[in-house]
Amino acid sequence: MMTTCCTDMNCETNVSTVCRTCGVKGLPVDPITLKALFTPDALRRGVPIDARFCPTPTCPIVYFGSTGTFTEDDLTVYVHAKHPHDDDVPVCYCFEYTPLKIRREDGAASKNIAREIKAGHCACEVKNPKGACCLGDVIRVEKEK
Ligand SMILES: [Zn+2]
Repeated sequence: MMTTCCTDMNCETNVSTVCRTCGVKGLPVDPITLKALFTPDALRRGVPIDARFCPTPTCPIVYFGSTGTFTEDDLTVYVHAKHPHDDDVPVCYCFEYTPLKIRREDGAASKNIAREIKAGHCACEVKNPKGACCLGDVIRVEKEK
């Protein structure tokens, strides 16, 4: 018999992978990213070891895990994924590229960042809220202009 377990949002087995607020599957994030970006109050609440990042722009949840959910108020930075069209919110957190700066460099930003990544200079795993490389986002912003 087929079970509806894994399509049910409230199913226990889904809680750790799907954002309960927007229903989108979260991206796994290393706890080190949360530790690097959390405010003192958020740190006191504890970093979930199974944290995931919710990429939905309209969803207030940035991270969720078995021990709680966290919004931008719990972070020391603004999150590009939550403000994809805000010119002042960084896209690249390592080298501080905002959409405004990316457009000013007229296609050179992704090349400059790629060069730094190749040189081993990037710190996306602790500086970027999504805990992963920003280059795809930078290229997307370059194409949007
Ligand atoms: Zn969400």
